[in-house]
Amino acid sequence: MLSLKAGVRITGMRPEILLAAVAAMEVYKAAGHDLMITACVDGKHMAGSLHYAGAAIDLRTRDVAPADVPKLIAQIKTCLGEDFDVLLEVDHIHIEFQPKQEING
Ligand SMILES: [Zn+2]
Repeated sequence: MLSLKAGVRITGMRPEILLAAVAAMEVYKAAGHDLMITACVDGKHMAGSLHYAGAAIDLRTRDVAPADVPKLIAQIKTCLGEDFDVLLEVDHIHIEFQPKQEING
């Protein structure tokens, strides 16, 4: 199951990030976890953060055993490929869409 933390704002979420959320949900589900999105365009982030462009989400990790979080990250990276960055932050996983090459056509 995928859910949004109360107060999370998704207006302007890019479809690429929706796809990332779907992939992350499947990875969490396969590991026996529900997925909660804790931030999208809301929240406080670095100036210039892709959150404000709807191109990033944060995922709750506190219900996952710490040793399992890197496995989830690796699987999400495998799903999404190089145009997404999947990073472990202090208390969440951060995913952002940041194409590494020019998009042609
Ligand atoms: Zn983030």
